[in-house]
Amino acid sequence: MDDKVKRAYELMESCSLCPRKCGVNRIKGQIGFCKAGLLPMVSSFHAHFGEEPPISGCSGSGTIFFTHCSLRCVFCQNYPISQLGQGKEVSVEELAGFMLKLQAEGCHNINFVTPTHYMPQILEAVFIARKKGLKLPLVYNCGGYESMEALDILDGIIDIYMPDMKYSDNVPAKKYSNTPDYFDINKIAVKEMYRQAGDLKIEKGVAKKGILIRHLVLPENLAGSQKIFEFIANELSSDTYVNIMAQYYSCHLANQFPEIDRRIDAKEYMDAIRSAEKAGLKNGFRQVMSTIKRKCIPEWTDNLKES
Ligand code: SF4
Repeated sequence: MDDKVKRAYELMESCSLCPRKCGVNRIKGQIGFCKAGLLPMVSSFHAHFGEEPPISGCSGSGTIFFTHCSLRCVFCQNYPISQLGQGKEVSVEELAGFMLKLQAEGCHNINFVTPTHYMPQILEAVFIARKKGLKLPLVYNCGGYESMEALDILDGIIDIYMPDMKYSDNVPAKKYSNTPDYFDINKIAVKEMYRQAGDLKIEKGVAKKGILIRHLVLPENLAGSQKIFEFIANELSSDTYVNIMAQYYSCHLANQFPEIDRRIDAKEYMDAIRSAEKAGLKNGFRQVMSTIKRKCIPEWTDNLKES
């Protein structure tokens, strides 16, 4: 673990923690694309009951929300945290303390939300917390735009990977997330996560290890859902758990793009569900849509079948 922390911090000297490879020296306080500095910034930490059922369980997921992000999604629902820098700098010792507090509260896991740009600090904090008794599974809840160097360091440390698969086409990825190589990188990263963690293992309703992929359906099928589901079924496993999310709404800068300046409708969502079934996926979660208000109701069903 000592060696992994050292290797992780070395990636910050000419920052290549994520595939942007800005090359800035974060150790010396230089700032790259994500705007993250040397100390981790946290916007909040608490037991979260709104994650997928095996992640939240009955006692909650111990989520730690990190400030800043290496993506720039114009529709980000967390943009005050991810793009406007809402949060507070903390030391790695404080971060370790948050984990131990969440464990003491009875959470099922420690869930790092948007961790990519603070991976070394998180690892160091895990190292400290483990010495003080941290035993919970670790969840890496990320945008799926991850470097192989970083994932290699995380091998054997992370229990549950929860990456996004946002787009299957680099054109919308560039337009809406300023990430022109998103799908190329995302495919490689998700395959590596699957190699490390495998299919999701759930014991007594709570996830212990594995991968759970999140996919947000976009208006006009701009996320290219079908191609993503085919990739998952063919390149990972048809047993892969996928959460197909309906909660898109126009926020942050999305109103500057008329084609995404609205919620998705029920047909768009059901088309995505059917394309997952057609690809052969059978495990995962879908959300309940109200066709009257065309809003996503935050309830989960535990399979991909139409009810
Ligand atoms: S983590 Fe931030 S500074 Fe480092 S390469 Fe990625 S965007 Fe650049």
